[in-house]
Amino acid sequence: MASRDIRKLRNIGVMAHIDAGKTTTTERILYYTGQSYKMGNVDEGTTVTDWMEEEQKRGITITAAAVTCEWRDCTVNIIDTPGHVDFTAEVERSLRVLDGAVCVFCGVGGVEAQSETVWRQADRYGVPRVAFVNKMDRVGADFFAVLGEMEDRLQTNPVAIQIPLGRADQFRGVIDLVGMKAVTFDDESLGTKYEVTDIPVECLGEAQKWRAQMIERLANCVDSVMEKYVEEKEITEEDLRQGLREGTLRSLVTPVLCGAAFRNKGIQPLLDAVSDYLPSPLDLPPTKGFNPLKEVEVTRKTDPGEPLAALAFKIAADKHGDLTYLRIYSGRMKSGQRLYNATKDKMELVSRLYRMHANQRDQLDVAEAGDIVGVVGLKFTVTGDTLCEKHHPVVLEAMKFPETVISMAIEPKTQADKEKLGQTLSKLAKEDPTFEAHVDPETGQLIISGMGELHLEVLKNRMLSEYNIEANVGQPKVAYRETITRAVEQEARFIQQTGGRGQYGVVTIRVEPFRGKHAVEFESEVIGGEIPKQYIPHVERGVRETAASGPFSGYPLINIKVTLLTGEHHPVDSSELAFHTAGCLALKAAVEKAGPILLEPIMRLEVVVPEIYIGGIIGDLNSRRATISDIDARGNLRVIKATVPLVEMFGYSTTVRSLTQGRGSYTMEPCEYRPAPLNVMSSVA
Ligand code: GDP
Repeated sequence: MASRDIRKLRNIGVMAHIDAGKTTTTERILYYTGQSYKMGNVDEGTTVTDWMEEEQKRGITITAAAVTCEWRDCTVNIIDTPGHVDFTAEVERSLRVLDGAVCVFCGVGGVEAQSETVWRQADRYGVPRVAFVNKMDRVGADFFAVLGEMEDRLQTNPVAIQIPLGRADQFRGVIDLVGMKAVTFDDESLGTKYEVTDIPVECLGEAQKWRAQMIERLANCVDSVMEKYVEEKEITEEDLRQGLREGTLRSLVTPVLCGAAFRNKGIQPLLDAVSDYLPSPLDLPPTKGFNPLKEVEVTRKTDPGEPLAALAFKIAADKHGDLTYLRIYSGRMKSGQRLYNATKDKMELVSRLYRMHANQRDQLDVAEAGDIVGVVGLKFTVTGDTLCEKHHPVVLEAMKFPETVISMAIEPKTQADKEKLGQTLSKLAKEDPTFEAHVDPETGQLIISGMGELHLEVLKNRMLSEYNIEANVGQPKVAYRETITRAVEQEARFIQQTGGRGQYGVVTIRVEPFRGKHAVEFESEVIGGEIPKQYIPHVERGVRETAASGPFSGYPLINIKVTLLTGEHHPVDSSELAFHTAGCLALKAAVEKAGPILLEPIMRLEVVVPEIYIGGIIGDLNSRRATISDIDARGNLRVIKATVPLVEMFGYSTTVRSLTQGRGSYTMEPCEYRPAPLNVMSSVA
């Protein structure tokens, strides 16, 4: 099979503040590119990317499904990204595999707190973007105000490449400043037909003004445009397109477009901008990883001729078995091929390979560098794993996920439910790396944990409705941690030498407060033969097992370092078990003397409210032990930034709604752990 032209491939995400119109925009893109034949409508819960029941009910998108469509001569893979910050990990994993993004803003709401969060995440991954100012049909929509806000709040260089034609219910289409044409959309054909005409005379002055600004902004950062600009030569449409492409790829400018997805206006020019200005996989630097055998860094170019490197970024449990979404960075992958999961050191079989469309999947024989595909047949692979060839091993940089901060007990009603629940939980954990399930060793209760109240709520509802499990669900609880406040040295002797083969393990350890890469760092300073080498990993295992449940209230210990200083052994009676037990005993005793304390998760919070409600919101935040760091003005809105203990924030959405008559909104994400005050400690202990 001939290689596809990688230059014509676009792997993009559509990113937005919740409610800005991301789903509607994606759905219209799929409609106009011909993959989805019945136009969906979010308000009726029938949109293509939101197929999961839970999403439809809430009207939010929580999974990163990848959908392929064709526009002009380009193949566009759309990786769905969620808008809600409770699902940060979903956003991060999408960003890891996409090359460019369309950021949707609401023409009325403009740059809201969550738009900023999403924008910063894209900044972190250096993702080139075009912006789409949506809902231009609504009263109060103001394209130019949104441009200004982008400049002020996002520290970006927005360049309007269109201006709206008509306002509110008179909004008819856009003026294309690159081609200097008017584009109007036909309502009868649901916007499928559109007309490109001369700009109406009454709009010409305004169009010329904004075109001049576009050229000036481009000239400031793109050399080819700059040269023609200073020499006062004619700058052609082609020069502008090239300049905009270069400026966008280097993240020097953000082209800004507008439209009204819901009214079927502005989507085709947006697709043109995706083709013209967003990167192909070839525009990006080679991917980095390391060779797990030689522990050296390796890079892989976007080239089908290179050895294979693919990253699993999403597992979707599906009726026909698990579907693993892969981004192929280099090489080729064939259906029926055996691949090496270098992260897990296991072989896997690609039973079937698919290109995923919104409403169907095409089976493929081969997929190549740059592509995004779905694979059936992988057994061990989870999100973040690398697949490659056995003789060319590579592990690509995986995504990082924060620790879970909230948990909930779940109790199946019958034995049958219990069995089903076990399978469902492992499925859900495979799909979502920020979700965990474990059995509490003391109570025997099944505990699920996640990133926030909404995250657990969505998971709970999926278990109950999608998988039909009957279960009682407890109240969500804060996932506390424990740590120590001072360094202590401790010896532990596990010796039993009465009759038969004895036990003999003696260790001395030091524990100290420490912020390392891992929650518990372990190091051995034993050089002589006080403890034979083969027993040291067993001491470490004993230490780690004990650290999983702290002395305070059984929460895991974090931010500590344990150093094995010395020990004693017996030539006959020493064993793995003896040193394992000595490790457990030593850590337990040491931590009890090292001033153990309880840590509580602190959330980063941002509340956006109309000015008149600010007093009520601040008063309420003060009663929740919040530390307010900043209050900003955005037009007549106020943005309050604070950190606040998670335990104080249960049910906050209801409070914000009632304090602001439904006009306030907030975002919250895990930030750090801090020592819990006495009253919290005593309520937990
Ligand atoms: P998401 O949360 O970003 O995915 O946003 P949705 O696509 O679900 O849209 C949120 C709401 O805004 C829905 O009620 C849509 O019908 C509505 N909406 C989306 N696009 C437009 C538009 O262009 N104009 C108007 N007036 N409403 C829109």
